[in-house]
Amino acid sequence: MTTQTPARSNAALFETARAVIPGGVDSPVRAFGSVGGTPRFITSASGARVRDTEGRDYVDLVGSWGPALLGHAHPGVVEAVREAAWRGLSFGAPTEAETLLAQEVRRRVPAAERVRLVSTGTEATMTAVRLARGATGRDLVVKLAGCYHGHSDGLLAAAGSGVATAGLPGSAGVPQMVAAQTLVLPYNDLPALEACLEQRGQEVAAVILEGAAANMGVVPPLPGYTAGVRRLTAQHGALMILDEVLTGFRVGPAGWWGLEAVEGWVADGQGGPVPGSTHSARIWPASTAEASWVPDLLTFGKVIGGGVPLAAVGGRADVMDLLAPLGPVYQAGTLSGSPLATAAGLATLELADDQVYRAVDAASAQVGQVVSEALSAQGVAHRVQRAGSLFSVMFGDSAASSGVHDYEGAQAQETWRFAPFFHAFLREGVALPPSVFEAWFVSAAHDEEAVEAIAAAAPAAARAAAQARPDRQG
Ligand SMILES: *Cc1c(COP(=O)(O)O)cnc(C)c1O
Repeated sequence: MTTQTPARSNAALFETARAVIPGGVDSPVRAFGSVGGTPRFITSASGARVRDTEGRDYVDLVGSWGPALLGHAHPGVVEAVREAAWRGLSFGAPTEAETLLAQEVRRRVPAAERVRLVSTGTEATMTAVRLARGATGRDLVVKLAGCYHGHSDGLLAAAGSGVATAGLPGSAGVPQMVAAQTLVLPYNDLPALEACLEQRGQEVAAVILEGAAANMGVVPPLPGYTAGVRRLTAQHGALMILDEVLTGFRVGPAGWWGLEAVEGWVADGQGGPVPGSTHSARIWPASTAEASWVPDLLTFGKVIGGGVPLAAVGGRADVMDLLAPLGPVYQAGTLSGSPLATAAGLATLELADDQVYRAVDAASAQVGQVVSEALSAQGVAHRVQRAGSLFSVMFGDSAASSGVHDYEGAQAQETWRFAPFFHAFLREGVALPPSVFEAWFVSAAHDEEAVEAIAAAAPAAARAAAQARPDRQG
C-alpha cells in the first residue's frame, strides 16, 4: 500500500482483497474487468442509492443484479429479517415460512404447482436439468447461446454476460464428457431448434431458456418464439425449462411467463412496446388456463430472496414429485429455505404489489428515454432494448437499425463505447452494471429525484460514448 492511498479507499480495499480473494471479488463481473478501473467497495445502500467506502453516493442501476426490486434496505424487508434472526438463524428442520413462500410463488405463477426452495439460481437450474433428465430418461440438454443459467458444469457454454465479458468460450475445468451433453443453438431461431430436435429429439431431456434473455444485454424473444419452443419440446417429448431467475417477480407479478403468456406482451422488433403502454393494470393469472403456453419447469432467484440467498425450482406436480424424498431424483441443501431468506422473500413479495410494478415500469421507461435522448443528441447510434421493465443499451448502427436478436448480434455491437460511457456515468455519480452485456436494474425507489440525477449525468456519458474509439478499448 502506498502512502498516497488512504487506508479505506476503494483502491486500497481492492488491493488488500486481491491478496486473499482471487481477483479481489467473489463473482467475476464485480471486478470491473471489461470496463477497467477500480470497483467501488460498498458500505451501505438505501432506496435507489449505494454509498462507497470513500463516502460517495451513487444512483444505483445494479440493484444487486436484480433482487432490489423495492429499492435497497426497504424497511419492511429489513424488519422482517431482523425479527426472523431473533427467532433463530437456521434450524435444519421445516418451517411454516417455507410453505408460505411456496404458496405465494404458486399464487403468482400457477404453472409452479410444486415449489422447492434452494439457495442460488445456479442450484435451481441445475436441479431443473436433473429433474428433466430423471423424468425423461434422456441425457442431452439444449441451451441457447447468450442465455445464462448459472455456473454449473453443463450450462456454461456460450453463457453471456460474465463469460462473454471475460472473453472465455465456456470454462476450464468442465470435462469434455459433460460439455458434450449440452447442445448450444442460436437464440430466437425456431428453425434451428426444429432441425436439432428432428435429428436428436429422442435424446433431448430439456430445452432451457431465459424468460427473456437478459444476460447478453436485454434481448426479448421475438413474437411466437417462446410459444414455438413450447410446441416443439412437447412434440419431441422434451421438457421446457423457463429460467426466470432474473425476470421472475421483476418484470411483473408472474414474471416473464405472466407478461408474455398471460398479458400477451410481445417484442415488436423495435425493442418492444414501452411497458404499461398497452395495459392499464397488470394481470395476476388465476390459473394456467389463462396462459397461451405453460412451461414444464420454472426457476426463480434474485427477487424471490429479496437480497438474501434464495432461489427456487417449480413446475408440474408430476415432475416435481420425482424429487427426493418422494422420488428418485436427489436434491438437498443444508441452508435451503433459510429462515432469514424466506423472511426477506416473503416480505418482498408481499410488498411487490401493482403499484410497485407500475413504479418500476415508469422508472425504467424514463431512464431508458433520458439516456437514449442524450446519446441521440451526441449522434451515437444505439438502441434501448426492452423486455418489460428490463432494458439495456446496444451500441452501433446495426443494433440501431435492426435490433439485436441473438448472441452474435449482441457481440457485434460497438462494445468499445461502453467503458468510457460507464466511467463518465460513474464520475457523475451513477453506477451502471459494469458490462455492456448486463441489464440495467431500476427499482420502485427510483423516484423523480433519482431519474433527474441520471438525466443530469447522461450528457457527459453520451459525450464519452461519442468520443470513444475502438482502439482505446482496455
Ligand atoms: C443470475 C442468474 C442465474 C444464476 O443465479 P445465481 O443466484 O447467481 O446462481 C441463473 N439464471 C439466470 C437467468 C440468471 O440471471
